[in-house]
Amino acid sequence: MSNTKLTDAVEKRRTFAIISHPDAGKTTITEQLLLFGGVVREAGTVKAKKSGNFAKSDWMEIEQKRGISVTSSVMQFDYAGKRINILDTPGHEDFSEDTYRTLMAVDSAVMVIDSAKGIEPQTKKLFQICKMRGIPIFTFMNKLDRDGRDPMDLITELQEVLGIEAYPMNWPIGMGKELKGLYDRFNNRIELFRPADENDPFISLQDDGDIDDGYADLKTDQWYTDARDNMELINEAGDQFSAEKIASGDQTPVFFGSALVNFGVKTFLDAYLQFAPAPSPHKTTDDGEIEPTDPEFSGFVFKIQANMNPNHRDRIAFVRVCSGEFDRGMDVTQERTGKKVRLGNVTEFLANTRESVEKAVAGDIIGLYDTGNFQIGDSIYTGKRAIKFEKLPQFTPELFVRVTAKNVMKQKSFHKGINQLVQEGAVQLYQSYTTGQYILGAVGQLQFEVFQFRMQNEYNSEVEMEPMGHKIARWINPEQLDPHMASSRNLLVKDINDDPLFLFENQYAERWFQDKYPKVELTAKL
Ligand code: GDP
Repeated sequence: MSNTKLTDAVEKRRTFAIISHPDAGKTTITEQLLLFGGVVREAGTVKAKKSGNFAKSDWMEIEQKRGISVTSSVMQFDYAGKRINILDTPGHEDFSEDTYRTLMAVDSAVMVIDSAKGIEPQTKKLFQICKMRGIPIFTFMNKLDRDGRDPMDLITELQEVLGIEAYPMNWPIGMGKELKGLYDRFNNRIELFRPADENDPFISLQDDGDIDDGYADLKTDQWYTDARDNMELINEAGDQFSAEKIASGDQTPVFFGSALVNFGVKTFLDAYLQFAPAPSPHKTTDDGEIEPTDPEFSGFVFKIQANMNPNHRDRIAFVRVCSGEFDRGMDVTQERTGKKVRLGNVTEFLANTRESVEKAVAGDIIGLYDTGNFQIGDSIYTGKRAIKFEKLPQFTPELFVRVTAKNVMKQKSFHKGINQLVQEGAVQLYQSYTTGQYILGAVGQLQFEVFQFRMQNEYNSEVEMEPMGHKIARWINPEQLDPHMASSRNLLVKDINDDPLFLFENQYAERWFQDKYPKVELTAKL
């Protein structure tokens, strides 16, 4: 590919994740977006993944069959001259550190909120990771076809709870049974919910922001005048629209709509594409940056998906392409080991393979079939210049279990398995200061289940896990540490770098500790 062709291809890429709390409508909106992309998928491909009690045995069974969860981990389609990659961030019980790491591989995020519920815990957690990265965040207030909360409340909540400026791009005219449409201040038009003419749902706004007298019914409608009043209020007292602030993640444009009845979704997608960034440079550990249009190929592994079938020990390493162009069968250098690796067995996540003549370039995701060579965070590249991308952040685990080998005679395979799975990033490992006991930490329950399953199947080590429940993990400066600080409401442990931390029962225990030792600094990871 020539340089201009590569630049053009990179410029077309839009890579994002949808962040939301379970049931806010992520799956529904994803399917809607795929339809706009003209991607004819088997009905319910995305839905199939989350059906049933997906978290436990079914998950493994689905994994065994291969495919579903792998292919819907990344969905690619073309729309309006852009090539869009949607990366899935699993919710429910399959929420895990991988979910967080996926956010390291995207250039922007779409936050879907149930307008009857507002901001829910998982949305908030995922939002904070996006905020830390400074990537643009676009908000879709979903389920407008149902009665929800007052739009003004929802906007205020975004600002207060998430600490981000919120700029409503449009405003609902009614909701639930009374839904009439959207007052679209960004496009200067009204978008009718049930227009007389399906092909023409729009009414242009005049210079004064009102509609023509010809639309008397709507013009005198209480919901319409309410929407106008609110928009006027926000025009005067709200934040100014700022493309720069959107780009830096300091302002989120907010769109209202309903994914289920496909209302306002296209309006959202069109504006999203106008402001969402193409792939940007990625930082390296030597303080350098790799431009996405750099002709040498580079990328990093952000997620490893283990195959649960013991007969197929291979896994898939997901690579975010950061520069250059991927070619099947190309040789790359793996930075961590210095080894050359041939990328022969690769999955590309093209929604419609027949049309996919273009190759994967910066912004795209490739899946490498791996037999254990790759680790999360690995950088790979071509060319002479060694490239090491910045380390992926570690996330504070919230769930803990005590773990032991069932069979004391099998300590060797137990330790080997734990070490490898911890290195891979499947779970976090801690050790009690006093008893030396092993404790595992995770952000989602599924991580433990996968750990247990893999220990048994890959390392022939049956493990016993004793749940410890939710804990608040806080690291402490080793110089400030005094063994007397341990109490019945906290547990002193060390991580794999031998750094000490406390596991607090709850926030009261943490506060009690802080009151008692005001000089001691406690830190959380991300
Ligand atoms: P996810 O867990 O975030 O992927 O949520 P889903 O997309 O599966 O949606 C959860 C439930 O909400 C399903 O029953 C959907 O049919 C429903 N739902 C999604 N979007 C809307 C919407 O815009 N309006 C209404 N009324 N229901 C919706």
